[in-house]
Amino acid sequence: MLQDPTMTTAARPVRVRIAPSPTGDPHVGTAYIALFNYVFAKHVGGTFILRIEDTDQTRARADSEQMIYDALRWVGLSWDEGPDVGGPFGPYRQSERGPIYAEHARILIDNGRAYRCFCTAERLAAVRARQQLEKTGHGYDRHCRSLPREESDARAAAGEAFVVRLAAPLTGNVVVQDKLRGDVTIDVGQIDDQVLLKSDGMPTYHLANVVDDHLMEISHVIRAEEWISSTPKHVLLYQAFGWQEPQWLHMPLLRNADKSKISKRKNPVSINYYRDAGILPHALLNFLALMGWSFGDDREKFTLAEMIEVFSWERISLGGPVFNLEKLTWLNEKYIHDLDYGQLADAFLGWRMRREHWMQILPLVRERIKKLDEIIPMTEYFFSGDLDYSAVLGDLVVPEVAPADVGKGLLAYVERFEAREGWSAAMLEEEARAWCEALGWKPKHGFMLLRVGSTGRKASPPLFETMAVLGKEITRRRLRRVAEVIASGGKVK
Ligand code: GLU
Repeated sequence: MLQDPTMTTAARPVRVRIAPSPTGDPHVGTAYIALFNYVFAKHVGGTFILRIEDTDQTRARADSEQMIYDALRWVGLSWDEGPDVGGPFGPYRQSERGPIYAEHARILIDNGRAYRCFCTAERLAAVRARQQLEKTGHGYDRHCRSLPREESDARAAAGEAFVVRLAAPLTGNVVVQDKLRGDVTIDVGQIDDQVLLKSDGMPTYHLANVVDDHLMEISHVIRAEEWISSTPKHVLLYQAFGWQEPQWLHMPLLRNADKSKISKRKNPVSINYYRDAGILPHALLNFLALMGWSFGDDREKFTLAEMIEVFSWERISLGGPVFNLEKLTWLNEKYIHDLDYGQLADAFLGWRMRREHWMQILPLVRERIKKLDEIIPMTEYFFSGDLDYSAVLGDLVVPEVAPADVGKGLLAYVERFEAREGWSAAMLEEEARAWCEALGWKPKHGFMLLRVGSTGRKASPPLFETMAVLGKEITRRRLRRVAEVIASGGKVK
């Protein structure tokens, strides 16, 4: 039963979705938005859909889609329709829906709500430069908007490159009716003639997102606040097609302690980090629920089923929730204490103690041990979290480089592996060599920093194999932390 009367105006079945772009590691923000979509769907007996928005081929990463599935399943969320489980509204991967977008761009050209734009990159750059100089206008100058249709058709037929742009209304307002925020009114004068279809025939986010939400019969778009600036453009698109809009709900964004949007520079943002750091999936989900919503009665610990039962949009708070690791750890502790010993043993053995993990570690240590009792002391850093560097500070140096620059240099290495797909010793070594060369550091100094930073020790099994087994999440976290420790002269512990 719907408790919130404002939601009953949608006289259609509740169908909600998340639409992540597979561009990197699975983000906690994805789990947070998935949670609210899932809980709302389950509360009202609706359908929860997962759609992969992978039309930006320059950013899409092959391994990322599977990681999204794995991470969401790890926290305990599942979807009724999606690329991997199918469903009646597929395909659910945008890269497989190309003809649908082309067809819809054509519908808008035919009804005069969109037009082909043949402007070259040079012309657009010249327009921008002039606008900056004269401090007039912004965005596209609508040069091609008045092209006669026959000319546009002829030029397209002759093979000239074009994009398709929305012919945005020139005057008036567009109102976004956000169920959490009320009406947001925007002067259309601020809205550019958005590109809908790029010159390679691929749709932009705006076109693909609106077309899919409509065709997949999405009733409520529940997404993060960061998309709110796109929503007026989406409303214009719904109007241009003559379609019924979904209900809009923009959830508050997760934030760093300084209130900026949550970022990997200030907080680990990958769901896999929390998994590898020993956070229990239910604790993470419970924590994410508390970020935007309150259970009532000051209750902070609750199950997913309990949340589904009492869920109501009225208890969403819009203030920017701070993603506070201490709070998460506090909640995790409560979950741990509530496990019986058998459950705790299972949780632990299913974590980094699992057999596959040992099968990766043992090749690194077998030749170095004489007795089994040496294994645990020798491999302790594969199972611990943040390391204590106080005893090895003297080794965290590069001759003649100021500590602040050593710290910055280390972060540059992290940036390098972030930019690469996959995770292997060969990749890590290749990047480490290129990194030392770029900084003018001797490999023996650079590699020692990586070794001490990632293991807390001066001697370890082969460095890059060790980092490969430690995994991206733990390696990234340790190197970022040790960079801070170095830059602060050991003050940050
Ligand atoms: N592809 C967008 C994302 O990466 C989807 C935003 C939306 O939900 O509309 O989050």
